Amino acid sequence: MITAEGVKHLAADEGFELCGVTPAGPPEGIEFFESWIEKGYAGSMGWLAKSVELRSTLESLLPGAKSVIACAAVYNQPNEPVPGQPRIAKYALGRDYHKVLKGRLHRMRRALAEQAQEAEWRVCVDSAPMLEREWAHRAGIGWFGKNTCLINSQRGSWFLLGFLLTTLDLDSDAAAEGGCGTCKACIEACPTGAIIQEDGAWQVDARRCISYLTIEHKGEIDAELQPLMGGWTFGCDVCQEVCPFNSARASQPLRAQGTSEPDFLKTRAWPNLEQLAQISHEDWDVLTQGSPVRRAGWDGIKRNAQINLANR
Ligand code: SF4
Ligand code: SF4
Repeated sequence: MITAEGVKHLAADEGFELCGVTPAGPPEGIEFFESWIEKGYAGSMGWLAKSVELRSTLESLLPGAKSVIACAAVYNQPNEPVPGQPRIAKYALGRDYHKVLKGRLHRMRRALAEQAQEAEWRVCVDSAPMLEREWAHRAGIGWFGKNTCLINSQRGSWFLLGFLLTTLDLDSDAAAEGGCGTCKACIEACPTGAIIQEDGAWQVDARRCISYLTIEHKGEIDAELQPLMGGWTFGCDVCQEVCPFNSARASQPLRAQGTSEPDFLKTRAWPNLEQLAQISHEDWDVLTQGSPVRRAGWDGIKRNAQINLANR
C-alpha cells in the first residue's frame, strides 16, 4: 500500500530536500491571481490570463485527482558577480531544471505506479496551469514571503518546485506556517521597487521586476528601468540574497545549504558581456542548448548584455 511516508522516502531518494502532501481541493488563491493579472502586473505574459480558468481546478490536469505531492529541490550555490561577465540567476546556472525535476518525478511515478496500478498520475513542473506555490504552501513546503517567494523556515527559499498529482487519497501534511515579521529587507533592496503592498497583500509588479524584464519581456525595456538593472543579464536574485531566511546560522544548519544536484551547478563557460552583446544566432543556439537561459531568446540576451555594458 502506498503511504505518504513512503512517497516522502522515495522523494528523498531522488534528491528532493522537501516533500509534502495536500488534498487536491479547489485552490484558494485564484481570485488574488486574477486580480493581480487584471491590475496589469503580469506585463505581457498573456498566457497567464488565459490560464486562470484552468488553474482554478486540478481536474483539468488529472481528472479525479485526490492528492498533490509537492517536492522541492534546493539549487543554492555561490554566485558572486564577476566584472565583465554576465550575471545569471542561480537557478539558471546549470542544466534546465525542468528536465532534472521531471526526470526525478517520472522515476517516482513509475515506482509508485507499480505499487498501485489502478491509480492515475501526472507530473507537473512549471509548465502545467496550476497555482504551484499555493499547492506547495498547503503541502507544508513553505510560506509566502513579502518578496512572494515561498520560504521554508529551516531551509530558506533557494528551491525549485515539482509536483506529482495522483488519484490516490494520501495522508496530508499541515500547511506551512511562518512569516516575515517586521523585516522589509527585500523591499528596500529591490533595485526597481517591484515589491509592493496592495490591499494588505505583498505582490510583485512583474513589469518592474528584473527577472521578468530580462527573461519574459520582448523588445525594448523602458529607459527608466534600464539603469536599475545593473549587471543582471538573466533573472535577478537580489530579493532572495538579502532575505535573512537564506543566511547561514548555527541554529539553522540547513538554511544556506548548497545543492547536492550536480546538474544545478554552474558548468557552462559564458562569453563575456562584449561577446554576448553581439553573439551570432548560431553561437547563441549552441551556447544555450539545455540551459534555462535559452528562454530569453537570442534578441533578449543580446539586449540584456548591451544594457549591462551601459550600466558598468
Ligand atoms: S527578482 Fe529582483 S527585481 Fe524582481 S522583485 Fe526580486 S529584487 Fe526586485
Ligand atoms: S527579506 Fe525579509 S521581508 Fe523579504 S521575504 Fe525575506 S524575511 Fe520576508
